[in-house]
Amino acid sequence: MKVKIKEVEVETKERIQLIDVTGQIENFIKESGVKNGLCLIHSLHSTTAIIVNERENGLIQDLIHEVQKVFPREEEWLHNRIDDNADAHLASAFIGSSKVFPVKNGEIIRGVWQNIFLLELDGPRTRRIIIEALGE
Ligand code: ZN
Repeated sequence: MKVKIKEVEVETKERIQLIDVTGQIENFIKESGVKNGLCLIHSLHSTTAIIVNERENGLIQDLIHEVQKVFPREEEWLHNRIDDNADAHLASAFIGSSKVFPVKNGEIIRGVWQNIFLLELDGPRTRRIIIEALGE
């Protein structure tokens, strides 16, 4: 079994932002030589998340709007006494930091409208994502 791992840096520009990383993940799978197996995408931060959905401008704004509605920044969160980003930690905890895709014939299997995004929740910052391919 092959195990290939790569760390990718992503520069974010907004406090809350969706960055499409699908191309980087597909390129890595090609480079990895893994033909059949699994691909893990994992963000190394407690104030980001990985989501899978359609890349459509209206929907991207809707997703950001919904995150802000469900996890409002203005709430009196206890963590805000330390560093004023409790909303970002909460969204990250509930949405999740990782996704796994099947890999078949050297490509990740995803639906036509399933792009892979890093969700920045407390930017702008430099973020790190781990991509791991496992298989043969
Ligand atoms: Zn914090």
